[in-house]
Amino acid sequence: GCMAKKFKVLIRAEDLKARIPEWPYFIIDLMHWDKHTQKEKGKICLQVAQSYGLLRDYFTGKELAVTWANDEFKSMFHGPVERITTYEGSTANFLKEEGIDEVVLLDPWAEEVLGEEDFDVKAFIIGGIVDTGGTKKKTTPKIGEELEKEGIKVHRRKIVLRGDVVGVPDRINRILGIILKMMIDGKSMDEAVYEFQ
Ligand code: SAM
Repeated sequence: GCMAKKFKVLIRAEDLKARIPEWPYFIIDLMHWDKHTQKEKGKICLQVAQSYGLLRDYFTGKELAVTWANDEFKSMFHGPVERITTYEGSTANFLKEEGIDEVVLLDPWAEEVLGEEDFDVKAFIIGGIVDTGGTKKKTTPKIGEELEKEGIKVHRRKIVLRGDVVGVPDRINRILGIILKMMIDGKSMDEAVYEFQ
């Protein structure tokens, strides 16, 4: 029943704390918010809410941070805004306030593939970008450039299925889900991608 479920979650949380002493931030970067149509903005909000749903299974939810979170985002977001971390300023400033100077940027244009050695970083960054019109090509690398200008060390990493980005779902929440499956459940990248296809 309910107790059993609670107990299981508790054990899992304890277990996790031992394995991951410092829980990382998963940052959804809304730097490109204004490039989106209203409909796309709605999709971003939905995907952020779904990301919260995924994270809550493992973490508290506060580890989900949304940067460049303006009033429009806050008014359009129908998820529990007080249970996540919202930051109105830039990602670089957020990181500085948190004392983080090194991040992993999930970037389909990266040369290197995400791997276990990346999992001890203190922040993962996912672009708060939704592609429907194909007008936002290569906007993720721009997020990286912006951070580097501010002195943050950026490890750009891609997620692939059998070596190729083709076939990897590009929704924000699915990218987050793939990372969690690999990092916490110890699944291989291919297995994790299959589960979120
Ligand atoms: N149009 C964007 C571009 O060309 O850079 C891609 C946006 S994608 C819809 C949303 C976010 O999901 C990206 O910013 C990135 O963080 C993440 N993402 C999507 N596919 C990915 C992949 N294969 N590997 C790593 N990150 C990915």
